[in-house]
Amino acid sequence: GRTLLDVKNLSVSFDVYGGEVQAVRDVSLRIKEGEAVAIVGESGSGKSVTAQTIMRLIQTPPGRIKQGQVLLDGQDLLTLSEKDMQKVRGNKIGMIFQDPMTSLNPTMTVGKQIMEGLLQHQKLSGEEAKKRVIELLRTVGIPNPETRLKQYPHQFSGGMRQRVVIAIALACNPSLLIADEPTTALDVTIQAQILSLMKDLQQKMKTSIILITHDLGIVADICDRVIVMYAGQVVETGTKREIFNNPQHPYTKGLLKSLPRLDQAKDEPLIPIFGTPPDLIKPPEGCGFCSRCDEAMRICETVVPEFTEISGTQAVRCWLQHPYAKRAGSAGGKEA
Ligand code: SF4
Ligand code: MG
Repeated sequence: GRTLLDVKNLSVSFDVYGGEVQAVRDVSLRIKEGEAVAIVGESGSGKSVTAQTIMRLIQTPPGRIKQGQVLLDGQDLLTLSEKDMQKVRGNKIGMIFQDPMTSLNPTMTVGKQIMEGLLQHQKLSGEEAKKRVIELLRTVGIPNPETRLKQYPHQFSGGMRQRVVIAIALACNPSLLIADEPTTALDVTIQAQILSLMKDLQQKMKTSIILITHDLGIVADICDRVIVMYAGQVVETGTKREIFNNPQHPYTKGLLKSLPRLDQAKDEPLIPIFGTPPDLIKPPEGCGFCSRCDEAMRICETVVPEFTEISGTQAVRCWLQHPYAKRAGSAGGKEA
C-alpha cells in the first residue's frame, strides 16, 4: 500500500527543572494506507509523546521539537500554521484518548458534540448532520440513537462513552485514527468489545490506525504491525507474527514473557522485566536497555546500536543482531 504517514528522525524534548528530558529520540516510522499499527512500550517510553507530536498537541514550551518531519500524504505537519493544523485534526486525523470523560464535554449532549466536528469540517445542513450523527451512533453500536443523541455523557456507561468518542473521531472519515490507550480505563470484557469495534470500523472504512498501548496482549487482535519503543527510541519493528513468534530485541522478549498466556500452567509465574527505564535527562550513551539487559556486551554501554534488518519487514536495534557481532561470533563483538 501507499505510505500515509511518514515520521522521519523525530526528536522531542521537554524542559524541566534540572534539565531537558529527551522524551523522543530520533524516531522514524511509517504507516501505510489502511494499516493498523501498534506502538508498544512502558510508560515513559515516548509513545504518547510521539503521537501527540504527530497531532501537534505538544505544548511548546516546555516541549521542544528538536528535529524531524511528520509527513502526512507528503505534507509536513510540523510546518503547518495552527489554523491549518486544526483542519487536519478531526478531519484527516481522528483521535481517541484513554479517558472518554476528559475528551467529552459534560455539559453538552452527545449528539451536539458529534455534530460539532461535522459542521466544523464539512459542509452539511443541520438536517443532514443529524442524520449522519444517528448513522454514526448506530455504526459504533449504540442502541436507540435517536433517543441517545439527546443525552449527556454521564448518562452513558464507560464503554458506551468510549463508543461516542470513537463516533466523534470517525465523524469526518479521517484517513488516520490515533488511539492512545483507548481501553485502559475499561474493564476487560468492554475492552475486548471496543477493540473489536475498532477493528471492524478500520476494515470497513479503510482507515489507518495507530494504537498506542503498554499492553502487548491487546495488540494481537487488531494490529498488522508492531513498533516497540523503549527509552524514547524505536527498538524493534515487525509484523505481528514476527514480533510474537520471533522477537529479536531482549526488551521485546521480556514484554512477551510478562504476558499471561492461555497455555500457561497456573503455577508458572509471569516474569516481569527487572529494573527501571533510564533517566532521559541523561540518556545512556549506548543502548537504552543496557542497564536491564542480561545479554549486554561492552559495546552496548558506549555505542547506540544501529538497526539491523532481520527481514523485509522486521528490524531491531540491538548489537546482538548486528553483522559485526555475528561475524565476531562472541560477546563483545568488534570492540571486545
Ligand atoms: Fe542488550 Fe546490547 Fe542488545 Fe542493548 S544492544 S538490548 S544492551 S544486547
Ligand atoms: Mg501515555
